[in-house]
Amino acid sequence: MPLRFNTCPHCNERIVFKIEKTDIDTSQYPSPIYILHNVDTCGKISTFYVDSLLRVSYKELEKKPGGIKTIKTIH
Ligand SMILES: [Zn+2]
Repeated sequence: MPLRFNTCPHCNERIVFKIEKTDIDTSQYPSPIYILHNVDTCGKISTFYVDSLLRVSYKELEKKPGGIKTIKTIH
């Protein structure tokens, strides 16, 4: 289960989350996944788009259509 390091687009803090292929719709790439920044100071959801190797291509502040799962950040 790959670990991904990135930043939250709402608060710009560093985030870490785990993602696997079953978390996304693999019929098209980049594929959206919802990321919940799981800290009291933020708690917001954004949309991250990942490629077939589950690498983040880009991200959006809003919850965009097409995702199948919400992942809570580890930090
Ligand atoms: Zn945040």
